[in-house]
Amino acid sequence: MTALASAAGSSVVVLEEVTRTYAGGVTALVGVSLTVHRGEMAAIVGPSGSGKSTLLNVIGTLDRPTSGRVVIDGHDVAALSDRQLSALRAQSIGFVFQQFHLPAGVSALDSVAYGLLYSGTGQRARRERAAAALERVGLGRRLDHRPHELSGGEKQRVAIARAVVGEPAVLLADEPTGALDSKAGAAVMELLHELNESGTTILVITHDRSIADSLPRQVAMLDGRVQSDSATATATDSAALGATC
Ligand code: ADP
Repeated sequence: MTALASAAGSSVVVLEEVTRTYAGGVTALVGVSLTVHRGEMAAIVGPSGSGKSTLLNVIGTLDRPTSGRVVIDGHDVAALSDRQLSALRAQSIGFVFQQFHLPAGVSALDSVAYGLLYSGTGQRARRERAAAALERVGLGRRLDHRPHELSGGEKQRVAIARAVVGEPAVLLADEPTGALDSKAGAAVMELLHELNESGTTILVITHDRSIADSLPRQVAMLDGRVQSDSATATATDSAALGATC
């Protein structure tokens, strides 16, 4: 994994004609092509069953496509061994899920520092960077709090700090407000916007059209296909996008 490869080009995610067929014959992705540039913030939006999770898994290199090409942060996924794929994931991709997945009984500081465990950073530097990341998400005064001492919104902030502490090329947020009340959800979206304004590339997977509409770009999925993409839409397409979703 060379820095040169990471720095190559401005595309963080490139999918070309990606198809994913599950055992049993369900084709969850059908010829999906998508390019996400460094610094973008986009929503992948669509109803349940439209292929969003499958797409997230493919972009997150948790799953390989049945056919088509996937290039993440300059690396063609097909050319990498499972071990290299894990390294790419650890180095280049941050994940945030609806359920925060914070280990029980572990302080916010240690949870976030854990995000740097495989980065070759020493323990002291890991803790310093974790503290800075928690400061960045507004939790500088909650470093020692464990999950049961945090609100849902605060837990999601810890999860976001853990995802961005290694400065990944792309942050994948899967229904990040799905388990939060509307106020905490709005605050988490505001935080994601702030992170994007300071340079983080972010993809938000959501079934919520209003969340998608609050982001600069919307990629709408339906039946495993990209139904529309506001980045490539013509004026007529944009009108249709507003009318149909
Ligand atoms: P979404 O995240 O938009 O709800 P998914 O990507 O989870 O959509 O699912 C897309 C389609 O693929 C659905 O028809 C779903 O039933 C099917 N699917 C998802 N995961 C699997 C799996 N592991 N095995 C078989 N079919 C699956």
